Parts: sequence; C-alpha cells; structure tokens
Amino acid sequence: MFNDLFNRKPEDKPFLISGPCSAETEEQVLETCQRLAATGKVQALRAGIWKPRTKPGGFEGVGAKGLPWLKKASELTGLPVAVEVATAKHVEDCLAFGVDLVWVGARTTGNPFSVQEIANALRGVDIPVLVKNPIHPELELWIGAIERLQKAGLKQVGMIHRGFSSYGNTDYRNAPMWHLPIEMKRRLPELPILNDPSHICGRRDTLFGVAQQALDLDFDGTMIESHIDPDNAWSDAKQQITPEVLGQLITDLVWRHETTDKQEFLSALAGLRQQINNLDSEIIQLLGRRMAVAEKIGQYKKDNDITILQTARLNEIMERSKRQGAQVGLTEDFVEKYMEAVHLESVMRQEKVMQG
Ligand code: PEP
Ligand code: MN
Repeated sequence: MFNDLFNRKPEDKPFLISGPCSAETEEQVLETCQRLAATGKVQALRAGIWKPRTKPGGFEGVGAKGLPWLKKASELTGLPVAVEVATAKHVEDCLAFGVDLVWVGARTTGNPFSVQEIANALRGVDIPVLVKNPIHPELELWIGAIERLQKAGLKQVGMIHRGFSSYGNTDYRNAPMWHLPIEMKRRLPELPILNDPSHICGRRDTLFGVAQQALDLDFDGTMIESHIDPDNAWSDAKQQITPEVLGQLITDLVWRHETTDKQEFLSALAGLRQQINNLDSEIIQLLGRRMAVAEKIGQYKKDNDITILQTARLNEIMERSKRQGAQVGLTEDFVEKYMEAVHLESVMRQEKVMQG
C-alpha cells in the first residue's frame, strides 16, 4: 500500500498524503477524503485524532471515536489512512481500527520516553511509521527516534520535515532550515522523506513555494493539510486549503528527477562540476595559506604579549569582505557566516601557537 513510498523508483511521482489537520465530524472527514480522492493526486489520507495543543483549552481532537470515520473514508476511497500517535494507547487504538500508517508528531519526537513507548507498542507489527522532526533543530534526537523504531523491528520508517520553531520568526510558522533535512538525507539515504509545507508555512499563500523547494531538493513527496471549509477548521485554519485547491497545487508542482540519461545534460553537468571542483580546490589551498599567515601573526603576538582577539580588526575584516562580497553578488548573511568561521579558525590556530 505504501510501496510507492518505501520502494521508490526513479519514475515515481511525488507521494502525497493529505487530509484535515483534525478529524472534526464524520461528515467533514468523509467529504474531505472523498473530494481529495477525486483529485486523483493523493496516495494516502491523514487526519489528527489526538491533537497535542500548546495550551489547554483548545480543541484536543475527537479521540478514538474518529477512527471509524477514517476507516469508512478509506473504504469509500480505496486509499490508506495515516494518524498521529503520541502514546502506546494511541498505537493500540490505531491498530485496532486498521489504520495503515502512523506518524510521530514533532512534539513527541523530542521526548525519548514517548518514542520508546510507541516503539514498544509497535514491536512485531509491520506498519509504516513516519517520524516528524522535533520542534527544535536537534538532528540527533530525530535520528534517535528513528533508531528506537528500527530497533523495535520496524522496517518501514520514514521522515517528515515540518520545520523548526524559532522565537520571533515571522516569515514561517516553523523555519524550514533546509540544511537539516538535507543532512538527514545524507545520513539516512535509504529512508524516504516527505515535506510538510502546512506546518512550515502556517498560511496558505506560501505552501506552493515550499512544496516546490522540497521537490527540487529531491524529497519523496509532501504531507499537506486540506479541509472542506478551511476558514472554519477547528485547528490550523490559516494553513488549510480545499481539496480542489490542493489538486491544482499538486498539478502545478514541477517534479524534477535526481538524474537522467540524457547525454547532453550529463556532459554539460560534468563540465560545470569539474569547474566547481577546481574552484573548491583553490579555495581550500588559499584557506591553508591564510591560516599559515595567521599562525605567523600568532607568533608575533606571543612574542609581544598582545591579545589574539582584536575586535576592531575583526570588524574591519568583516566590513571589507561584505563590501567585496556585494560586488560579486554574495549576500551579506553568507559572507558574515563564512568569515566568522574563517576568523574563528584563525583564532584557534593562534591560541595553539600561544599555548605552544
Ligand atoms: C499535524 O500534522 O497536524 C501536527 C500536529 O503536526 P506537528 O507534529 O508537525 O506539529
Ligand atoms: Mn495541523
């Protein structure tokens, strides 16, 4: 059922899981799921049954009574269903009602006790499990949660990138921090990874851009929330879209492949990559030379009892680099990060000389 997700073939289309943030009523679940199925773009349905809310008093989900609604939606559409689990009891309820896939929510991934409890409850069950990234940018916790499930014998484990919480962020509800899922893909290349633009964006108008970016980064698909009446949804109203809008969004996405056998493209790419390799070698050689000069300065500073760190000099380096960077199209943010790393390494080298 989830073969297209766990045994990806190069020609496979993006895998799309969609459904409401929360199951609210039987009618809402059935209508949403049937309209989603009618788009022909959805491979699996989702709905939150138990909702972890930041503060008490919000809608906390309909609970297990929503599971038969999902089962019915699955029977009517022929599509498998996915539900978020946070406790062993949730797992038992899902298994009892024939839920096809479960996912671990962002708030749960960050708690090893809960993940272990879920892993134990799933022991011996061959059901696919997707693990959302933890709320804060902590890769080892994300990997740890995956390992706990794999150690419990689960063979079909995948990842969902839903962005990371950061105080005062206005562009995104949860910042994508793309380098983190990229690092996860590098560390766990055999695991499928979906993008969840709904919880990254927190609003409708930017969903497409994030979903497209994920596909451009070779994600295997997306999980997007959809509701028949988004403005009146009981949770996450601002980010949900109707099934028809979702169908159009998926149609508009450009699906790029990691590779191709077109000879012309491959040789052009190889040529450009060779240029990149040459430039990278030059940069590395130059950095080596820069550090050797820094060490020499360290020796002079040591001989004359001068401190390593001189903030006026650091400011001068930064300002000049940013000015020069701007002239060749480098962003200020990039130059700052890069020069900070270079400067820190210089300081460390000089510290070694001083202590030597
Ligand atoms: C959800 O998918 O509805 C959800 C609660 O997501 P997250 O765990 O990413 O906050
Ligand atoms: Mn939601």
